[in-house]
This record gives sequence, C-alpha cells and structure tokens, in this order.
Amino acid sequence: MSPQRHFEGIAVSGGVVTGKVFRLDPRRLSAEPRSIPDEKVAQEIERFMKAVEYSRKRIQKIRKKAEQATDASHANIFDVHLMMLDDPMFYNETIEGIRREKMNAEYMLSQTVEKLATLFGNMKDGYFAERVSDIYDLANQIMSLLRKDVRHPLRDLREPVIVAAYDLGPSDTVVMDGSKVIGFVTNIGGPTSHTAIMAKALEIPAVVGVAGFVEKVATGDTLIVDGTSGKVIIKPTAEEIKKYKIIQQRLREQKQSLCVLCDLEARTLDGYSIELSANIEIPEETKHIKSHGADGIGLFRTEFIYLNRNGMPDEEEQYQIYKDVLGAVRPKPVIFRTFDLGGDKFISGVSFKELNPFLGLRAIRLGLANPEIFKTQMRAILRASMHGNAKMMFPMISCVEEVRQIKKLLREIMDEMDAEGVNYIKDIELGIMVEIPSAAVMADILAKEVNFFSIGTNDLIQYTLAVDRVNERVAHLYQPYNPAILRLIRDTIIAAHKNNIWVGLCGEMAADPMTAVILLGLGIDELSMGPIAIPEVKRVIRSVRLADAKRLTEEILQMGTAAEIKRLVAAYARQIV
Ligand code: PEP
Ligand code: MG
Repeated sequence: MSPQRHFEGIAVSGGVVTGKVFRLDPRRLSAEPRSIPDEKVAQEIERFMKAVEYSRKRIQKIRKKAEQATDASHANIFDVHLMMLDDPMFYNETIEGIRREKMNAEYMLSQTVEKLATLFGNMKDGYFAERVSDIYDLANQIMSLLRKDVRHPLRDLREPVIVAAYDLGPSDTVVMDGSKVIGFVTNIGGPTSHTAIMAKALEIPAVVGVAGFVEKVATGDTLIVDGTSGKVIIKPTAEEIKKYKIIQQRLREQKQSLCVLCDLEARTLDGYSIELSANIEIPEETKHIKSHGADGIGLFRTEFIYLNRNGMPDEEEQYQIYKDVLGAVRPKPVIFRTFDLGGDKFISGVSFKELNPFLGLRAIRLGLANPEIFKTQMRAILRASMHGNAKMMFPMISCVEEVRQIKKLLREIMDEMDAEGVNYIKDIELGIMVEIPSAAVMADILAKEVNFFSIGTNDLIQYTLAVDRVNERVAHLYQPYNPAILRLIRDTIIAAHKNNIWVGLCGEMAADPMTAVILLGLGIDELSMGPIAIPEVKRVIRSVRLADAKRLTEEILQMGTAAEIKRLVAAYARQIV
C-alpha cells in the first residue's frame, strides 16, 4: 500500500504555499552521538552532573514559588521531578552510559530517557504510564542546560520551510522568523488556538488538527499547504503543484486588489463608521498597521514578551518595547492588554501545568496572585503612556471585585510614581475584556468601573459553550454563530452604551466579514483582528447599509440555532457580493 499523501485539517490561516518541510521533533530530545576521548570521559560525566545539580536548584526554586502561590498539591508535581533526578535508573544509568560507551552526555541522556519512557509507557498502572511526560519534561530541562543555551530549533532556520509539528506552543511560534517559516501544519489545535492566531499574524498559510500528520512526514519532504481549504499534500505530483500555483496566483491578485481600501474609512453606504484595529502579538507587527489600513492596535497580547526566555522582563525592558510600539503607530491608539499567561501559554516559575489550565490560574488571576510581576508591567505601560496614545486592558475579568482590586493596585503604583516624580498619563483609559460569561451578564455594573470593553469571543465561546478552544475533537461545537453567543454580545453592547462607554470586539470572530456585518448591526464601535483580515472586512462594511445590517441582526436574534443563522447570513452575503 502506498503511503498516505493527502490530509485534511482545520484551515486557520488562508493562502497556499509549496515548500520543504522542517519536522519539529515531537519530543525534542534527539541528540547527535559524539565520541568522547578517554581522557575527557570524567569531564563529560562532570558536565552531566552539573546540569542535573543546576536543574535540581531550579526545580526547588519553582517548587517554593508554587507552594506560596497555590496549595501544596501543586508543589507535589515538582517533588516527582526531584525524585526522578535522584533515581538510579535516570542518573546512574546515564553516567554509566557515558563511561561505558564513551559518548557525549546529551546522547546518553536521550538513550536513558527512551529506555525509561518505554518501560513506564508499557506499565499497566496508569500512574506510571502518565509519568512518561514528566520524564520528557525533566530530560528536556537538563538537555537545554547541557546544550548551554535555550536556543530553539526554529530560531536557527537557514532556508524557508513549512514547519510540521505535533503541536506548536506560543513559546515555539514566538521565536519563528517570519521570513523563514512559510507555513505550518500541526496534529492538534483548534481555530482560535494561539498557533492559529500566530499563523495569521505572520501571514502564513496554516492548517491545524491534522490527525497523525507529523508521524507521516520527514524533514525535506515537499509539501503543499492550503490554509484556505485545510488540505495538505505530502510529495505532491507535478499536476498538483501546477494546480496549486494557479490558486496561489489568484489569491495573490485578490489580496492586491484589496490594497486600494487601505486609506479609506470603514464606513457603510449610509454613512456610519466603525473603527477597524489590529491585534498584534509581537512588536515587529506594527509594520502591518499602516499597510493594512488599521485604525490602531486594538489588542497587543503582551504575554509574548514573557515567553521563551530565562527570567522575567524587567520594567525597563518592557518600557522600551511599549514605547517603541506606541511610537510606531502614533497618533493611533494602542491597547496594551496586561499579560494573559496560563491557559495554553506557560512560563516556568510562575505558571505551570494544571489539570484544567483554561479554568485555572490564568491571566488576571495570575497577575493578582503575583502582584510584583503585575505591578512591574503596569508601571512600564504607564511610563510608556507619555509616548503616544496608550490604553490599558485587563484579561479574563470574571467579577467586579477583580476590577476594584486592579484599580487599587494601580492607585498604589500611581502614588509611588508621583512620589518619585515619574511622568505618566494620569487619566489613561482603562478597559476590560469581556470574555467570561459572568462578565457579560454583569456588564451593566462593570461598565461603571471602566472606560471601555473589548469582547474576547475566542474565550467567550469556549466558556459559554463549554468547548475547549484548542481541542480539534470538539471544534465542530465551537460556534461563533451560536445564538447564545450573539445574545451575550448584544447584551454587553447595550449595557456599555447605556453607561456611555465604547465597546469593541477582538476575538477571531471580528475577522469574519459576515460576522462583522452582524456585529455592526448589534452596534459594535470597534473591531480588532489580525491585520491581514482588515481589508476584506473593510470592503464588506463599505458595501452594506447600517439599516440593513440592523434588520438582519434583528431577524437573527429571533433564531434558535447556529445553522439557521449561518444560512440566513450566507444568503445575505450572496446579495452583497
Ligand atoms: C479572546 O479571548 O477573544 C481574545 C482576543 O484573547 P485571546 O485569544 O488572547 O485569549
Ligand atoms: Mg481571551
């Protein structure tokens, strides 16, 4: 039987690309074998022992922090790692291996780990089988110390490649060089996972949730990725390459034809304007603001600054980044969202894997539990506010108390800065993300506490419909058109406007032109999306009348299912295209 060449997954970032694959090793532990001369064997063993010692200290430190931040049961996870470090099967086996085989520590460690993982993985007892991921975690830590760097395989790419991986975490995507990574395909992931968001930010075609893919592809294979239809082809035929070249050309022409809209307003045929802003993840993306005709940055996901590094960014480093971003888009506004770590974005030492990370110590919860880290960020944003039009926004607000707690912290920081004579914009606009259903329900009260709302539908959908946003197996239940979602959005907008504050929406839903028409009809003031989506959304807004959008929305709000709503919207779309 010939090997499978055609795959299908969830299309998350449009466009077509043909190129060579770079396969990211799912377990990232492979190490090149290197012979060690007799006289250097003792030194090699010493190098391994030092890495283990360093690792032990690091784990003990993290354990202590975990114990302070949460209950003891979380800290126990680290006890397992500490125990493993001392386990003869792990420690002695590697040392013996170096001595016996006269091979480098990295290679012998990878050999030990493979043996242990097979042994544990085959055990009937679930507890031991589950320890396999702990073994890999631990070994990865030691491996990065042995390699004396935290360099990521994706940082050193020399040729343009399509990355194939089991999964790509934000700490992977954040190091990617946009000029070298021309597409990606992952085995897991959903439409609003951060992998998907990052692909759009880099403007590269991507397909996620392609079951069994990474196992079937090898580095160097030629691949076609169609990020518009979700199709992926390994080793395409000449015929297939020709067909996709034509599609690629057509998409390129479409994109160019939209450029003419860049300098125009998002104004309906009957003269009603809304703002179209950009979501950015990394500061380099500010270059897309002007070229895609954005009215500003509606969401700067600042958490990416914290990822893939040793230690936290200090106030000065953050201040410089925020100042540069403000300077790059001035006089247009920048909404700095304070870090949304946790969920599917981890940093060692502060956030750690929980059983239900999306329901755990994430975003503002993590900030309030670590006030020093949170205050450092707020201080940096406040200082930077002197250099442009800055606003500050807080993620994952679930209740009024959290907002009051934040404002109290902010008051303390402002008093400190006043005493030190440090300048900042005193009446900086403060906003919250409405992305937890309780916040939408309490919007009338919350609106009295802040200057604006931004509805985060990526999470609002996941929490309202109880559908994990990164789980491809329930992706079919993740429905932006679900009437429950549209009603929550409607109620949030009404509550905001009654209290004279503006309301935007920065989830992926904003990037769908037809949804944008519904949101226009619901009275949204601003839509923020990956810059690449702006021209098309603008084109559609400029081809409709507000009065018609309102009528459509009223009809939609009477409907009971997402399917009915989708049908009606599709019929409307055919009329305006
Ligand atoms: C959202 O939840 O809609 C959102 C914009 O935030 P993030 O995708 O970063 O969670
Ligand atoms: Mg969110």
